[in-house]
Amino acid sequence: MLLNDKVAVITGGAGLNGLGFATARMMAAQGAKVVILDLDMAQPAAAAAQLGPDHLGLVANVTDKASCEAAVAQIQARYGRIDILVNNAGVTQPAKFLDITGADYDRIMDVSLRGTLYASQAVLPLMQAQKSGAIVCISSVSAQRGGGILGGPHYSAAKAGVLGLARAMAREYGGSNIRVNCVTPGLIATDINKGKIPEDKRQGILDGIPLARIGEPNDVAGCVVFLASDLSKYCTGITLDVNGGMLIH
Ligand code: NAD
Repeated sequence: MLLNDKVAVITGGAGLNGLGFATARMMAAQGAKVVILDLDMAQPAAAAAQLGPDHLGLVANVTDKASCEAAVAQIQARYGRIDILVNNAGVTQPAKFLDITGADYDRIMDVSLRGTLYASQAVLPLMQAQKSGAIVCISSVSAQRGGGILGGPHYSAAKAGVLGLARAMAREYGGSNIRVNCVTPGLIATDINKGKIPEDKRQGILDGIPLARIGEPNDVAGCVVFLASDLSKYCTGITLDVNGGMLIH
């Protein structure tokens, strides 16, 4: 198995139809002990229980540094280490540039970008002490092409910020044997976009995807597992596109 006895923490992982939970399930199947962090209303403990008794679900808000630190302290008490962090929590909003309010900007930037900063800051001291770790950050094709299908410019900016933050972390922590990489999903069928793709736009979207289908959560999970595992042990600072060919560059 690829992740035998590794301890993996996934933010925003409680949504059973989401990329985080698909990653949690695949990591557990590869031998990892998985910790799902999510907001209270997303019920992370119930999600983790679906994976089995070795796994843990904790309430943590990634926009709150103390909340991230408290979660890491609990994980350390139970498992003694953290090998993998997946910065997956994110929220989106369709909006035209001139319509974005300050509150919209804060909400969208805070979860993806500040959340990646705070969750990583909480985990890095432990990884440094271990002299090993793998962090995978979920960005988006929206960061690369200035907008995806649904997210507004502020979402695009937040996800572009994630790429910059991750690359800077990769430089700073390579010497501690901590790898930091990004995944840039295209359009993947999850709750974030459920019911939001107008039927009359669907064929046009598919026409722009060489693999001619919308992605599934496991399409992303497989790439996250790859970046979290030793299969990718000489990869750091990379961006792995998972978009069916929607953006080839
Ligand atoms: P999702 O809505 O199922 O997952 C997002 C999760 O983040 C939810 O479980 C939510 O409760 C959690 N969350 C929100 N705010 C949080 C906070 N403050 N603290 C902790 N958790 C919080 O959607 P998804 O599609 O699985 O999205 C997962 C990630 O993938 C997101 O970062 C999203 O931007 C990114 N992404 C998704 C797509 C897609 O097409 N689905 C494409 C590109 C990138």
